[in-house]
Amino acid sequence: MQESADVVIVGSGMGGATLAYGLAQRGVDVLVLERGHRLPKEPENTSPEAVFVEKRYKPNDTWYTVDGTPYAPGVHYVVGGNTKVYGSSLPRLRERDFEETVYPTAVSPAWPFSYAELEPYYVQAEHLYNVHGAPGPDGGDTPPFEPWRSAPYPYPALAHEPYVAETLRRLSEQGVHPATTAMGVDLRPGGRCIRCGTCDGFPCRWDAKSDAEICALEPAIATGRVRLIEGAYVDRVETDASGRIARAVGHVDGEPLEVSGRVFALSAGAANSAALLLRSGVANSSGLIGTRYMVHNNSHIAAIDPRRTNNVVFQKTACVNDFYDDMGDGFPGGTLQCIGKVQASMMKTHATRAPLSVLKPMAARSMEWLVMTEDTPDPANRISLDSQGRITVTWTRTNYDRHELMLAKARELLKGAGYVAIFEQRFDISMNSHMCGTAAGGEDPRESVLDRNCRSHDVDNLYVVDSAFFPSSGAQNPALTIAANALRVAETIPA
Ligand SMILES: Cc1cc2nc3c(=O)[nH]c(=O)nc-3n(C[C@H](O)[C@H](O)[C@H](O)COP(=O)(O)OP(=O)(O)OC[C@H]3O[C@@H](n4cnc5c(N)ncnc54)[C@H](O)[C@@H]3O)c2cc1C
Repeated sequence: MQESADVVIVGSGMGGATLAYGLAQRGVDVLVLERGHRLPKEPENTSPEAVFVEKRYKPNDTWYTVDGTPYAPGVHYVVGGNTKVYGSSLPRLRERDFEETVYPTAVSPAWPFSYAELEPYYVQAEHLYNVHGAPGPDGGDTPPFEPWRSAPYPYPALAHEPYVAETLRRLSEQGVHPATTAMGVDLRPGGRCIRCGTCDGFPCRWDAKSDAEICALEPAIATGRVRLIEGAYVDRVETDASGRIARAVGHVDGEPLEVSGRVFALSAGAANSAALLLRSGVANSSGLIGTRYMVHNNSHIAAIDPRRTNNVVFQKTACVNDFYDDMGDGFPGGTLQCIGKVQASMMKTHATRAPLSVLKPMAARSMEWLVMTEDTPDPANRISLDSQGRITVTWTRTNYDRHELMLAKARELLKGAGYVAIFEQRFDISMNSHMCGTAAGGEDPRESVLDRNCRSHDVDNLYVVDSAFFPSSGAQNPALTIAANALRVAETIPA
């Protein structure tokens, strides 16, 4: 298959689909190449057994640790990328996240632009992805733990169900200020969400989750300026005699694929964009492609109060950001967020030896949380290719002392709220859903792969517009920032 387009985008996830949308608004001719197909709408979408036990929507892909151990990475190769199963929590990073942050044992570097520069695009992204939220604690207007905003959230914050509200009351009694989580679900008046209870980690059969396919790619295609080829795997990009990218080369459904274009934007996700660049042997004068791989320091908590039955349907409405900027010792902590209600069969994927007869009453009395703190970029943590071209990940935790403190704080708060048993699951190398940083942006070509507008320092028609660009990870969910940045970059690509 031979194709051409003005702008060729590789990958249709949060970065690629949003970039396509932004370019379509400017009338640019865009072709999106996506290795996956559309995720089917079927009864299994809402089955915990199908999604979490049988891993129905996970690709048959294997990455390797540096000592050669194979593992299944946390990726989804479908139209819309990882957003088809994401939890659609869509907060902004904070002003401080764009500046250098010094921790006791690590430094988080500054971004090449400020929060103020990205802020108008956060507003656009919140509208594109139908975000519900409120800036202050408990839906109020005073924003002590959120950054300033030039426009209100497009939709009001989601209401807490009674079980969640009672837990938040107990947390408030301990002096913290629980807030509502910024969420991309279609709970507008007449919206598509039916509150099915399977959202976080599941695909949405009703197109009610604000994923990249539904909110950005489909509207982009509807303009008539954006085309999509599904099942199109891009192996590499190739240069012409001048050193500019001339074509993307790969295969579609077993047939060779060659696509020429004026501009090429890689949005294959932090690991695959880096792997694609390494395979292509371009844009790496800094030697940094693949390095500074970050994933956040994340842990899940299941907190059990045997006296209360948790009958919640939509649990992911609350967060505690009191310790984001300061844990009381002058250094930042992170965030504590409710996650979607975890069912017994989902618990079994980790508590493999526990019988369902034990897990079911536990799940009925537990509330689940995510503790997220910042990891910092380390050149030794990296994506590389082994001798067979397979993705190899070198990863050790960074800045983890802050995570330990934040976990201890979360345990203390939850115990104070009446939870007598607290189970933790620290994310391992395979739980890389928040990966970023492998083609970092910056002003200095010796210290970064991309410039401030995600353009390669080396090759002037090559862009990387996904989470690979992040110079540091902050400690908030990344997707809204990826989208806002893609809208910003869309305005800079020459038409
Ligand atoms: C279970 C889960 C829950 C999550 N919850 C949240 C949340 O609540 N909030 C949040 O902010 N983030 C969440 N995330 C993370 C979020 O989904 C990602 O940060 C975001 O999707 C990354 O965007 P991206 O554009 O970098 O990559 P992706 O969205 O993953 O898109 C990459 C795309 O490129 C395609 N691709 C890869 N290689 C190639 C190739 N060689 N050729 C062609 N196409 C290719 C892939 O198939 C994919 O479609 C979650 C992730 C998971 C897995």
